[in-house]
Amino acid sequence: MSKHTILIVEDDDLIRKFMSRAVTDAGYRSVLAENASVCRMLFLSELPDLVLLDLGLPDDDGLNLLKEMKSIREDIPVIVVSARERENEKVRALDMGADDYVTKPFGIFELMARIRTALRHSDKIKGQPENSSSSVFVHKDLVMDLARHTVKLRGEEIHLTNREYRILELLFRHKGKVLTYSWLMQQIWGDFIPQDNTILRVNMTNIRKKLHESLEDPVYIKTELGVGYRMPEDED
Ligand code: CA
Repeated sequence: MSKHTILIVEDDDLIRKFMSRAVTDAGYRSVLAENASVCRMLFLSELPDLVLLDLGLPDDDGLNLLKEMKSIREDIPVIVVSARERENEKVRALDMGADDYVTKPFGIFELMARIRTALRHSDKIKGQPENSSSSVFVHKDLVMDLARHTVKLRGEEIHLTNREYRILELLFRHKGKVLTYSWLMQQIWGDFIPQDNTILRVNMTNIRKKLHESLEDPVYIKTELGVGYRMPEDED
């Protein structure tokens, strides 16, 4: 299999070098952009498999870049690298199609785990016809069978409302990826999207109760504070 190419867009020299080193040590090829205009050029010439995108760039807003890249290649995985004081931007980026985010300062292990997950997702999608729906999802002791419309925990059937079922299905379909409140609500309620995310939270609490999730260390549905929810990827 050919090496994945990762485009690193970051104006801070130290962080860019740090990320480049981590990425090449892990066996990927890295190409580096220190601003938006170099990013635009390399995105077209290097055909990266994944982009690490800093939002605060000297010559343009990273969100503009995100929009452009996604309009050129909808399937390109983009991981946003944002500073802690830019929480709102992070959520906006996810809603605009970013696949994941890491918050500065971050560790190598966190970064590499996010990259592996995003690449695995995009490789999987590329290898599949659009509507191939594998109908059984499994995560640890939880089995969701779409054809039979059943959810089982350790072999015991769990009864979910239609809405709870739909939420769980979305988490399974996008396993490893963080799903924002507004994205989830859009998927579930469509045009009748509620004013705030209270109903979603209530639904989530009910699902978690039915799955006997522990609050401290949930296994199936993790909360990403202020952002949304994620079903964790299986450990490598
Ligand atoms: Ca920056």
